[in-house]
Amino acid sequence: MKIYPLLLLLFLIGPNAGQPTIKKVTGAKQAVFSFIFDDLNTTDADVKAIFDEFGFQPSFAITTNKLNSKTAPLYKSYAEEGISILSHSHTHPKMNNASVVDKETILLELKSSKERIESYGIPVHGFVTPNSYMRPEFLTLLGATYDYAFTNNHNDLYDTSVDKQHLSRYGIESNIATSDHSIEKIMSRIDQAIKNKELLVFYGHALPSTYLDDLGKPRVTANDLRVILSYIKSKLDNNECLVLTSDLAVEAYYK
Ligand SMILES: [Zn+2]
Repeated sequence: MKIYPLLLLLFLIGPNAGQPTIKKVTGAKQAVFSFIFDDLNTTDADVKAIFDEFGFQPSFAITTNKLNSKTAPLYKSYAEEGISILSHSHTHPKMNNASVVDKETILLELKSSKERIESYGIPVHGFVTPNSYMRPEFLTLLGATYDYAFTNNHNDLYDTSVDKQHLSRYGIESNIATSDHSIEKIMSRIDQAIKNKELLVFYGHALPSTYLDDLGKPRVTANDLRVILSYIKSKLDNNECLVLTSDLAVEAYYK
């Protein structure tokens, strides 16, 4: 009878007893896609309506000198639906050159824009750098104010090796074909993100885009956006990715 406790012990230790514990894999489990529209444009409501068609939620990065008692209620209602509202600074200064802008100015832009959004009862956790790139010497200013930020300090990396405050985004406008609106390049980037389990955050501005194609027409139209969202929806339906508003995308990806 005394043999049972010994057998039980061997059973609990198992055949791998004595071997080093396998390190937990820390990479993301699957690709996460998100979409942010910058600058607070009057067409943001049109963007929102298109995302509604697909059951997706966009995000909006607001330049807060455009946020006032007239514009704020719309974004507050979006936030109440769970849509992420990010700060895109107060006056949209370039943050890529220390000789043009100093640390105090940047800090004021970071803090005052967040406070302004919050003053309308809208929570804000993320920051989008105007003109994409923030100089490394300014990065430490973000820490106390934002949980995550797009500062474009790791150009083409979109994985968990990138700190949450150094994220990059992928432009819808700059990657759609200027001759015929083809989204082929964007589709293959989506495929790559799925294969590599990346966090790929797209960005755009007004819709239709004010950036023009070879024919002088808007570079991205509502229909182009629908084609991109349809493609991503097909991937979501196939359980190949997640599609989330920005706060949730970052949270899910870095979990
Ligand atoms: Zn901008």
